[in-house]
Amino acid sequence: MSEFALPPPATPAVAIEGGGRLPVHRIYCVGRNYADHVREMGSQPTPPFFFMKPPDALVASGAAIPYPPRTANLHHEIELVVAIGRAGRNIPAATALEHVFGYAAGNDLTRRDLQSAAKQGGLPWDSGKGFDHSAPVAAIRPAARGHLSRGRIWLEVNGETRQDSDLALMLTPVPQLIAELSTLYELEAGDLIFTGTPAGVGAVLPGDRLEGGIEGLAVLRNTIAPPARAGGGA
Ligand code: MN
Repeated sequence: MSEFALPPPATPAVAIEGGGRLPVHRIYCVGRNYADHVREMGSQPTPPFFFMKPPDALVASGAAIPYPPRTANLHHEIELVVAIGRAGRNIPAATALEHVFGYAAGNDLTRRDLQSAAKQGGLPWDSGKGFDHSAPVAAIRPAARGHLSRGRIWLEVNGETRQDSDLALMLTPVPQLIAELSTLYELEAGDLIFTGTPAGVGAVLPGDRLEGGIEGLAVLRNTIAPPARAGGGA
C-alpha cells in the first residue's frame, strides 16, 4: 500500500544523446543575457537575474505544443540549456563547469502579453513564463563531449530564420551564471538552466513549425497545435 493519497506525478525528464533520460529537478531561466535582445525589448541591461518554470512544463523535441490559453502573443526564445549533473552551493566560476552534465537546445516559450503586463505592473513573471508546455528541450549532449562557450544559436519558423546569433555574445557566460545562481539556491543534479535568448524573438501561431538549434547539439523541432479543448483533462 502506497504512503501517497494519490498516484505520484511522473518524473519530468529530458532525453540524452546516446540513450537514457535525465530526470529534471528544477528549471531556472536567465533574463537579459544578450545585448541585442535587451535592446529589442526596450529593457535596461541588468546583472544576471533568474526566474523559474515548473519542471512539468518540459516538452520533448518532435512534440506538438497546444497554443496556450490567455495569450494572443506567444513568443519563441531559442536558448542554450545547461543541465547540472552535480549538486553544489556557492560554486566558484573557476570550477563551475565540473557541475555540468551536458548541454541542449531549448525554447523559453513566453506569453509576451502577460509578461509585458506583469512588467508594467511590477508583478511576477510566472504566468508569462511558467505555463504548461512552456519548456521544449531537445536531447542533451553530455559534457564529456566538450563544453560550449561559442557557436551558432538559431531558430526558424516555417523555414524562415528568426533568430541567428552566437553563444559567445552572452553577457554573462555559463560558469559565471552557475556561480551566481548557486549563491541563491543549492543546485541539484537534474537542474536545468535556460541561459537567455538573442534578438529576433517573435510571435508564433497554431500550424507553425519551429526548428531551432545550437552548433553541435541536437536540433529542437516542435509544431504549434490548436489550443487544447476547453475542459479537457489532457
Ligand atoms: Mn528567455
